[in-house]
Amino acid sequence: MTHTLHPIPAFSDNYIWALHQDGQALVVDPGEASGVLSYLREHGLSLAAILITHHHADHTGGVVELRAATGAAVYGPVVEPMPEPLTRLDQGEHVDVLGLRFEVMHVPGHTAGHIAYHCAEVDGAPLLFCGDTLFSGGCGRLFEGTPAQMLDSLDRLAALPPHTRVCCTHEYTLSNLRFARAVEPDNHDLAAYAAHCESLRQRNLPTLPSSIGLELTINPFLRSRQPRVAQAVQQHSGQPSLDDTAVFAALREWKNVF
Ligand code: ZN
Ligand code: FE
Repeated sequence: MTHTLHPIPAFSDNYIWALHQDGQALVVDPGEASGVLSYLREHGLSLAAILITHHHADHTGGVVELRAATGAAVYGPVVEPMPEPLTRLDQGEHVDVLGLRFEVMHVPGHTAGHIAYHCAEVDGAPLLFCGDTLFSGGCGRLFEGTPAQMLDSLDRLAALPPHTRVCCTHEYTLSNLRFARAVEPDNHDLAAYAAHCESLRQRNLPTLPSSIGLELTINPFLRSRQPRVAQAVQQHSGQPSLDDTAVFAALREWKNVF
């Protein structure tokens, strides 16, 4: 049983992830319907489910049209405004779709109710749909959550198995890596990964999915407790003795104005 995992591009830098097998598909965070409908048609798929991670329009804007066109079941977070009707899922609950079980993690920070979907095994490796919480080389902006909440959310994602494939919703990798290299100029894994991603983007290929193991070596927001990273942040902020949460907060603020 092999599943196909494919990022459908939307807007200028969104990906709507599609996972399908035997003619049945799920999509994650469809901000618009048109690209999904053509993908389904092209591949002869029926849409079984729509998974939503958070309420932003670039993740939900296509839900009403897709549900009307396909009858797909819709799943989303508990506490956010959502295109009703849908099944709302909380931390520790799960959704069974395409013969797979996705566990729901509440990962507040970018938005208050943001959730991620984690499947322990799809064709030999775990799979994570993390919305705008974790990006390759970066993390989401803190629109509704605190630095402490986001750090805790990222810590829990970082604790997933290293070979977990990470499906982020935006192609922000190159700009994230420019910032990451300013924070960690001596990180050789990071330099090599940046060169790899630049060559992918030159050929118009996605840099995603990433993996938890890779992100642990290159993503400053998963590395804020590494002495080199913490030192760079403290130096940049001019505050010499920050605790873990304050380092993370200052790192996020640094990126906001980078
Ligand atoms: Zn968002
Ligand atoms: Fe987004």
